[in-house]
Amino acid sequence: MKVFKFGGASIKDVAAIKNVAQIIQTYQDQPLLVVVSALGKTTNALEDVLRAYYEQDAPLLKEKLNVVKKSHLQILEGLFKPTHPVYDEINDIFVDLEWILEETPVDTYGYLYDQIVSNGELLSTQIVAAYFNKIGLHTTWLDVRDCIATDNTYQEAEVDWELTYNNIQQTVPPLLEQGIVLTQGFLGGTSENFTTTLGREGSDYTAAIFSYCLDAESMSIWKDVSGVLTGDPRLFDNMTKLEQLSYGEAIEMTYYGAQVIHPKTIRPLQNKQIPLHVKSFIDPSGSGTVIAQYEQLDYPPMLVVKPNQTLLKITSKDFYFVDEAKFAALFTLFAKYRIKVNMTQNTALAFSVCVNANRAQVQLLAQEIEADYSLETLEGLKLITLRYPNAATMERFDNGRVVYLEEKIRDTVQLVVDSEQVL
Ligand code: ASP
Ligand code: MG
Repeated sequence: MKVFKFGGASIKDVAAIKNVAQIIQTYQDQPLLVVVSALGKTTNALEDVLRAYYEQDAPLLKEKLNVVKKSHLQILEGLFKPTHPVYDEINDIFVDLEWILEETPVDTYGYLYDQIVSNGELLSTQIVAAYFNKIGLHTTWLDVRDCIATDNTYQEAEVDWELTYNNIQQTVPPLLEQGIVLTQGFLGGTSENFTTTLGREGSDYTAAIFSYCLDAESMSIWKDVSGVLTGDPRLFDNMTKLEQLSYGEAIEMTYYGAQVIHPKTIRPLQNKQIPLHVKSFIDPSGSGTVIAQYEQLDYPPMLVVKPNQTLLKITSKDFYFVDEAKFAALFTLFAKYRIKVNMTQNTALAFSVCVNANRAQVQLLAQEIEADYSLETLEGLKLITLRYPNAATMERFDNGRVVYLEEKIRDTVQLVVDSEQVL
């Protein structure tokens, strides 16, 4: 069997959904599980809804909710006659959502995020499944929350692999015998039946979880680019497509900001040696990129950028060295406040670290360490990673830019620079 994942851009409007259905039609001869994200930019729109709700701004909430309703209604009208039962399914989801929104928010932001934002995938999968069935592709809509079991770390839930494996093994194979199985990306469920999410752009990871649990022969992510490119084409010119990429290289690139695949996607696939195809939904017959267990591929220079970085410079106040015990204590605090460390550098008295963190997280860290360290913070930075640099690409780097942190090791150059710096 195969697992396909279609992201928001691939189902952003009526024409796009029809295009996806056409792609599916060409793969009808084999069992297929399809994972779908929310339509277009719905997740962002639902985040707006959540913010208005959390701030109890009633007019804004109404406006933001209408944006979501309207975009879904428009697509429904483009795909179905007004009498089609899918209108009721969609209406029910909005009724449930409005129930939540009518109450004053007492729960944590993370919990509310997951209960509200998850509706994007519930809506999209109802629409896409109904459309597949309408055109004769026998499709079962599967509630992913009954399959992917997670803890209750809202907004970034951890998967309980054993439970998930059993759930998927029990539920999915019999459904695959009947036709296509279509389910939501990004979502999971706790043991108490609360909805969770796996982190933004987590649908790729969802597809990888199913691939792993079902021993898929391959997984495909369908994108609006021809495959994995040597750099983000929105940021750089002259980027070329890679035909092949090793799992390890894919993890490095995605961890450091390549947005083509969610970084958590690779590990489950690597563990079972399931190849990942990154293919274009615009040009479905193109070769795309295959990510698999390749040894010693020759790579061209590759460039990735991680935005929204903060540099923390932590300096010992009392002239104690920042030694191993102190490192251990500092890293424990990073983990505690979920400050994600991307690059580090140390001297005897100072420790510089480039992180993903918001102000609140940094504030919490600052409070804990202020007795022993002074903390300098610099926001608005980006981390540029260059893999396999050659002379020409290095020249692009060395043009007098201000660099806050730099590292050159074999095959990799990393720089922390101002967000505005162009390359
Ligand atoms: N819809 C979610 C998001 O936009 C999940 C995904 O697209 O993978 O983050
Ligand atoms: Mg997406």
